[in-house]
Amino acid sequence: MRADLAAEIRRLGAEGVTPGLAAVLVGDNPASATYVRMKGKACDEAGLYHETIRLSRDTTEGELLGLVERLNADHKIHGILVQLPLPKHIDTGHVLHRVSPAKDVDGFHPENVGKVSIGDATGFRPATPYGVQQLLVRSQIETKGSHAVIVGRSNIVGRPMAALLLQDGPGGNATVTVSHSRTRDMKSVTRLADILIVAIGKPEFITGDMIKPGAVVVDVGVNRVEDPSTKKGYRLVGDVKFAEAKEVAGAITPVPGGVGPMTITMLLYNTVQAARQWVKA
Ligand code: NAP
Repeated sequence: MRADLAAEIRRLGAEGVTPGLAAVLVGDNPASATYVRMKGKACDEAGLYHETIRLSRDTTEGELLGLVERLNADHKIHGILVQLPLPKHIDTGHVLHRVSPAKDVDGFHPENVGKVSIGDATGFRPATPYGVQQLLVRSQIETKGSHAVIVGRSNIVGRPMAALLLQDGPGGNATVTVSHSRTRDMKSVTRLADILIVAIGKPEFITGDMIKPGAVVVDVGVNRVEDPSTKKGYRLVGDVKFAEAKEVAGAITPVPGGVGPMTITMLLYNTVQAARQWVKA
C-alpha cells in the first residue's frame, strides 16, 4: 500500500502538488508524542510534506482553535490531525469540529462521519477502521455475508468500523454486531463472529474460549503492561490474549505490528486523497 501511495504522490508531484500533513500535539503525553513521531517518519518515507506543531499543555482552547484556523487556510497543508487525547480543559468536540471537513484526514468531523455512514466515498474514513478493512480485503478475507462482531463502540474505532463493514462494496456487506461494556454474556456474542474485531483498551480481555474456531481475529488494542524484565519496564499487548487466540483463530493480527502500521498508512492515504480532491476542486 505504501508503494501505491508513493506512485500517487509522484503523479501529484508532476502536477505541482506535494500533499502536506500538519500534526498538532498539545501537552507531553508520551504515547501521543510517539504516535506523532511515527506519523512524521512515515510522511518523510512516502515523500509527503509534514509539519508537527507542539503546544504546551496549558495552551488555551482559543489558542488551539486559532491554530486550526490558520492551518485550514494554509495551502501547503491538505490534512490536519489533532492528536488525541487533548488536555481536559479543552473541549475536544469544539476543536475537531473546527477542522475544515476538506482537511479532516482523521475523519472525525461530523460531515465526514455522516458521509462515511451513508457510503459517500468523498468522506474521509477514520484511519484505524479503514486500515482494518484494508487488512481484511488485502488478506482475501471475505466480509460479504460474514458475521462481524465488533467489541467497542468508540467514535474513533468501533462505530466507524461498523459503518465500513455495512457498506455495499469490497470489504463490506457483512452482518454487523456491535458490543460494548453493557453487553450481556459477551462470550456468547463473540463466539458468533466469523470476523472478530476488538477495540476496548483492556489488556488480553478476549481469551481463546471466546473465539469461534477458525474465526478471523483483528486486535486493535494497544495496552502497556508492566514487565520488569524489559528495558523500558513495560511491554505492549493487545485486547486479545494472543497465545491462546492463535490456537483457535483461522487468522489473527499481532500487537504490536498488526493494525498500528495500517493506521499510519491510511492516514497518509487520506492526506493524499485530500490533496487529490483539492486539485480537482
Ligand atoms: P475508548 O474510546 O476507550 O472506547 C473503548 C470501548 O470499549 C467503549 O465503547 C467501551 O464501552 C468498550 N469497553 C470497555 N471495556 C469493555 C469491556 N470490559 N467489555 C466490552 N466493552 C468494553 O477506546 P478506543 O479509542 O476505541 O481504543 C480502544 C483500544 O484500541 C485502545 O487500546 C487503543 O489504544 C487502541 N487503539 C489502537 C489504534 C491503532 O492504531 N492500533 C488506534 C486507536 C485505538 P462503553 O462505550 O460501553 O464504555
